[in-house]
Amino acid sequence: MTHEHFDCLIVGGGHAGAEAAITLRATGFAGSIGLLGNEAVHPYERPALSKEYLAGKKSLDQLLLRPTEYWAEHDVDLRLSVHVVGVDTDNKTVTCDDGTMVGYGSLVWAAGGSPRRLDCPGHDLNGIHAIRDMADCDRLMSALPQSRRIAVIGGGFIGLEAAAVLRELGKEVAIIEALDRFLARVAAEPVSRFYENEHRDRGVSVHLGTGVAEILGHDGEVTGVRLTDGTVIDADQVIVGIGIIPAIQPLLTAGAEATAGSTGVLIDDHCRTSLPDVYCVGDCAVLREGPGIRIESRQNAIEQAQTAAKAISGQAEALNMVPWFWSNQYDLRLKTIGLSLGYDQTVLRGDPESRSFSLIYLKRGAVIAMDCINATRDYMQGRRLVETGAHVDAAILADAQTPLKEVAAAI
Ligand code: NAP
Repeated sequence: MTHEHFDCLIVGGGHAGAEAAITLRATGFAGSIGLLGNEAVHPYERPALSKEYLAGKKSLDQLLLRPTEYWAEHDVDLRLSVHVVGVDTDNKTVTCDDGTMVGYGSLVWAAGGSPRRLDCPGHDLNGIHAIRDMADCDRLMSALPQSRRIAVIGGGFIGLEAAAVLRELGKEVAIIEALDRFLARVAAEPVSRFYENEHRDRGVSVHLGTGVAEILGHDGEVTGVRLTDGTVIDADQVIVGIGIIPAIQPLLTAGAEATAGSTGVLIDDHCRTSLPDVYCVGDCAVLREGPGIRIESRQNAIEQAQTAAKAISGQAEALNMVPWFWSNQYDLRLKTIGLSLGYDQTVLRGDPESRSFSLIYLKRGAVIAMDCINATRDYMQGRRLVETGAHVDAAILADAQTPLKEVAAAI
């Protein structure tokens, strides 16, 4: 059977896929490049969806990763609205949902994931939204003018960022989080409680430690949410931010080695999977010699894509990154460096009441991560402590009068 063939085929048109193509050309890769995106729009800044885009402060044009003409100019064959459903490593082809087959020399799997959906009664009513891609966000935004009350399910970054934007747009907002605090998996208690207080202070109704029993509706449209504790929250729209399911099934079916529980495809430090000539990057990938989790961040998508592209271009450079994240909510700028996973001690630096402070995470005496809230100086100056896993006395870290650059210089 004849089919198209690309020397490098990239599946996924998000940050990771786009960056892989960009880096291939930047490193002089001379072969043909196919980039298959499943959204209808050119690659754009995804983190803005739950921030500036939802707020109406930035348009798609302002968020494009590259001008639309960039791809053709750089000889990248970008196809939109393409859904890859299968990978055949023997014949080195992928299959799309319309039956089309595309061949590859190297394959970069950068397919991201889809938002986890509710499965409770009422989950299929109109007015339930994810915020994962631009089409999700457009649907939500078109419903907002005629909506007053919004229920947000999930107190992770998506839920909290969306809640902040919607409050600022004057909506009544309720957040429902199954655990007993926000951001429970990524931050320690002081940071969670700080954000809880900030949202409450702005009039958000916060429901912790309770699940969703049912989405209530009338004539097929959402009217509210009934919680497992019996509380009923009236709502015109519901936003669901309860995590993602990585789009890895085609690689798993092809036999790629995955984590126990198949939460991600295992990669080495050049982003190679166990399948020949198949790389995996971004939200789908789990580093074999790493913390064992997917790192769902823009930086991770970009750095892994660069690593895979360099390996394909014959300029291999092992992945070596310390993760960082950011979140904007109201006038609060959170910057995180490192992963706090497994911390056994935290040090508060500064006073949350001042709305500028950092929380430093240590494991066996070594600094492993910092959450810096309206504290960019700590973030900049403290990065080195995380990068080097510095052992620093807690009292020194807690002293906000001593700049972290002095602490870092002394190690
Ligand atoms: P997330 O960070 O995984 O947070 C989802 C939260 O919802 C978790 O606390 C989860 O609790 C809770 N939850 C799950 N099921 C629930 C239910 N039925 N009812 C109520 N709460 C429930 O996921 P996300 O906020 O959807 O974001 C998706 C991904 O994008 C994440 O990786 C996130 O880090 C990333 N993202 C990052 C940023 C940023 O860095 N600023 C911004 C937006 C998105 P459990 O832990 O118990 O499941």
